[in-house]
Amino acid sequence: MRPFTSTISLEEARARLDAALRPIIRVERVALDDAAGRVAARDVVSPIDVPPFARSAMDGYAVIAADTETAGRTTPVELQLLDRIYTGKPSTVTVMRGACAEIATGAPLPDGADAVVMVEETAKAPGDDIGDIGRIQILAKAAPGQNIGKRAADIATGDRVIAAGDVLMPSRVGALAAIGCAGVEVFAKPRVAILSTGNEVIAPGQTLAPGQIYDVNRFTLGAIVAAHGGIPEAHHPAEDTIDALVDALDRSAQADLVVFSGGSSVGERDLIVDAVASRGEMIFHGIAVKPGKPTAFALVNGTPFFGMPGNPTSCLSNAYILLVPFLRALARLPPHTPRTTRVRLGRRIVSVAGRHQFYTVRVNNGAAFPAFKGSGDITSLSHADGYIEIAADQSTVEEGTVVTVTLF
Ligand code: AMP
Ligand code: MG
Repeated sequence: MRPFTSTISLEEARARLDAALRPIIRVERVALDDAAGRVAARDVVSPIDVPPFARSAMDGYAVIAADTETAGRTTPVELQLLDRIYTGKPSTVTVMRGACAEIATGAPLPDGADAVVMVEETAKAPGDDIGDIGRIQILAKAAPGQNIGKRAADIATGDRVIAAGDVLMPSRVGALAAIGCAGVEVFAKPRVAILSTGNEVIAPGQTLAPGQIYDVNRFTLGAIVAAHGGIPEAHHPAEDTIDALVDALDRSAQADLVVFSGGSSVGERDLIVDAVASRGEMIFHGIAVKPGKPTAFALVNGTPFFGMPGNPTSCLSNAYILLVPFLRALARLPPHTPRTTRVRLGRRIVSVAGRHQFYTVRVNNGAAFPAFKGSGDITSLSHADGYIEIAADQSTVEEGTVVTVTLF
């Protein structure tokens, strides 16, 4: 058994991850219904004007503005009503001097008209039977262009609606719909093979035999991967033998990213090291953080590989800190910016020397209280609201200190 001889700093680990990153280049076409949250792979240029025709922005009357010069509440101008124009069907009439057409919001402006007077500024001429085509009183002066949505006011033919690399948030999905796109080219989501190692690890749903425990990491990692733009692909746990681990690496070879957990205790560590060595190159192994020191990163047949600690809290903590930024960059998503809150520490924390610590806390009544039990205890995280960071050179944080809590 070889103990860890050296670790690298968190900054160094991040730098090596950045250097190894190759953002995904595979592209796929998705239906617009499935486009939200995806990353556009190409610019999208509009093939049409939006709106495709000049339209009324109000329920009212389409008029020639010049006819309304003298119109007012006490000096109504009477116009001949020619047509009623509803949405979805253009009128065949041309509005001439002295005439108007009733028009609904969103209906195409008829030829000849250059303004819309809203219905509140009009009246039926006295004696005009409701429902009949007749005469309309205009009670306010209209300016040319008033209450008209011009053709192409929103998007003109040839405008770039989406740029390659844009994340398709709901409004951008809307812009694609507005120009008639039924589908869009996006970067493929990275496929992430997730595999737990350990003779003792079995899937939930089975009965535990003596010495066995349920697989936690496959599920925490799967949840994290799905939440940050990846497609988790779960594999069966692998036994602690070189052959089983090499076989597991080979089975994961199709993935864009491989995440194993376990195999970090001193006896098993050599197995992962040797398995990786037979298929690729170790980039680092051992980081000066707590929890999560025995974390490895490698390129296995050119594919990025994370070897996470088996302890569930160590594994998940480093998933937040290292895997999430890497996966998001791989998926071409912008960095995740977790919410933070500044509160007082409710109880003193003693930290380990020489390791950057992510210390889980609960936030209660505006104060943070330690929630960390042990690296192996999932409740160190599941009972916490977030974590504070304690620098490697800091040994204690006193009660009452104002700390920044990064919230889950
Ligand atoms: P290892 O990193 O394999 O030495 O595991 C460290 C500790 O985490 C041991 O107590 C393992 O039993 C436990 N462990 C390893 N993998 C898992 C897993 N997938 N789910 C829950 N606990 C695990
Ligand atoms: Mg193990």
